[in-house]
Amino acid sequence: MKEALWWEPLEHHKVRCILCPNACIVLPGRRGICQVRENRGGQLYALNYGQVTSICLDPIEKKPLFHFHPGSLVLSIGTYGCNFQCAFCQNWRISQERPSCTELTPEQLINICAAQKKRFPSTIGLAYTYNEPTVWYEFVKECAEQARANGFVNLLVTNGYIEREALEQLVPLIDAMNIDVKAWDEQFYRSLARGKLDPVRRAVEQAAGAGVWVEITYLVIPGENDKDEQIEGLATWLSGISPVIPLHLSRYFPAYKYDKPPTPLATLERLRGIAREKLDYVYIGNAWQKGYADTLCPQCGEPLLERGALELERANLSQGVCPGCLRPADIIGNVWM
Ligand code: SF4
Repeated sequence: MKEALWWEPLEHHKVRCILCPNACIVLPGRRGICQVRENRGGQLYALNYGQVTSICLDPIEKKPLFHFHPGSLVLSIGTYGCNFQCAFCQNWRISQERPSCTELTPEQLINICAAQKKRFPSTIGLAYTYNEPTVWYEFVKECAEQARANGFVNLLVTNGYIEREALEQLVPLIDAMNIDVKAWDEQFYRSLARGKLDPVRRAVEQAAGAGVWVEITYLVIPGENDKDEQIEGLATWLSGISPVIPLHLSRYFPAYKYDKPPTPLATLERLRGIAREKLDYVYIGNAWQKGYADTLCPQCGEPLLERGALELERANLSQGVCPGCLRPADIIGNVWM
């Protein structure tokens, strides 16, 4: 536990948390919506500081990040808690419940990462993932500072629901982000995630504008966010930021409070076709069909990076450009094969 950043005192020992747009007013002895920030005696504390529920060396493709050091490994860590309450959450056991934790300091985490680097040289750094990392802000920031000082990269896999000022102080430490856009629809955000779309849009624009490499995940849920015009709206907006931002259309499977059948592959393929009219790189995730996760040259269609279920299998690049037409492949960093 550690005193939280981003809060202000109110009368009668109440506090207002200003880390995320929920802006919870937290009474003494109570917690915010995320269940990890608690008012103790008029001060806000981060209960999950240093509390790790999951730690694993993952292929970066699993985040998913397909254009940032493809084929590398990242030490992925998560805690518990989330500032959304998605009825379809695929990680609800750590986002909405409090599982058992291992306590780690930032120093210990960096030492683990360095040890993995010795065994597996393609280990490039840390990914804050599994649950929502922005509600782990204090720990993530300290780890990210130490990781950067030790030559490691920092990756954030997030719902993008964080206030501008808090993100502004974090992004200089972050190299790449995968941001979840859950729907192109305020009503969906309000009713199914208990959040708002606008702050997520702002966070995507803010991160990309600050020079962070950004990829977007969109979980396609049948009947909820799978309309053609929703994907068209999302793709048009993203292409206005940059058409090379990769979009991962992810297949939904029943989880938590949601029991609708999985997304039909035909739906994912139809939406991919719509998104590809505006964006250079559109992938289908969580579906494991040949070609869904391959990177094709947007100009000539040459396969540049071929992926299996979760890892890079073949690279066909010549000094970062397509060998067929010489168009740059929009890859950040090395390809690790
Ligand atoms: S971070 Fe948690 S406590 Fe703070 S405003 Fe968001 S949900 Fe509320």
